Amino acid sequence: MTMNLILMGLPGAGKGTQAETIIKNYGIPHISTGDIFRAAIKNQTEMGIKAKQYIDKGNLVPDDVTCGIVKDRLAQDDTKKGYMLDGFPRTLDQANALQKISSDLDRPLDAVINIDVDPKILIDRLSGRFICKNCGATYHKLYKKPKVDNTCDICGGHEFYQRSDDKPETVKNRLDVNIKMNTPLIDFYKGLDLLYTVDGSQNIDNVTEDIDKILKNL
Ligand code: ADP
Ligand code: AMP
Repeated sequence: MTMNLILMGLPGAGKGTQAETIIKNYGIPHISTGDIFRAAIKNQTEMGIKAKQYIDKGNLVPDDVTCGIVKDRLAQDDTKKGYMLDGFPRTLDQANALQKISSDLDRPLDAVINIDVDPKILIDRLSGRFICKNCGATYHKLYKKPKVDNTCDICGGHEFYQRSDDKPETVKNRLDVNIKMNTPLIDFYKGLDLLYTVDGSQNIDNVTEDIDKILKNL
């Protein structure tokens, strides 16, 4: 059985956090378009330099660039048993493109998990987020502190950073842009009978449990 999944939710809903557990439990690759862009920016590739102009303002990177990345990534061998997309699709055009990409590659979607969180609490989540510089693990200054102060639980690293697009001046536009696109996407996957919604305002472990129940029943 395959497990071809999308993890959907507004910025800060908890996609990356939940993905860390899901991929560990189910052994499928985590494909985050945001992570792919950040790696490209760090490596100063042509695509990264182009994407940075959009990301720094909290806008979406154009669909042709983003869809091309996903198409190439899903074509790799490690997605044969499943994959978990995070942060893609974000527009209806991307969702339609994904229908074609996944069908051409014979990797059709099995489920879309929507982590539903009231936008009012997202600013707090995003402004408190910090990330391990070495391994990319995500923390929160109130809701997910490292077990040992200033030390990454996963790799033991001591250096952390705040994403430049989590600064207050970018967060508002990012949320506005994503909220506008969210309802049509939800309706799209409801229409395909693929949508499962979890209450993402619960604590991290309870959200994980709810997602796990859905995946076990697929
Ligand atoms: P996304 O990938 O959807 O943008 P993250 O997984 O990075 O979101 O989570 C955003 C921030 O909120 C992080 O700092 C994370 O530690 C924290 N967080 C994630 N899930 C929860 C939760 N259920 N309750 C409280 N904080 C959470
Ligand atoms: P994320 O890490 O998912 O919060 O994404 C960070 C930023 O990368 C977003 O604010 C967008 O600028 C860009 N991005 C990520 N995924 C997409 C996508 N599917 N479509 C367009 N832009 C994206």
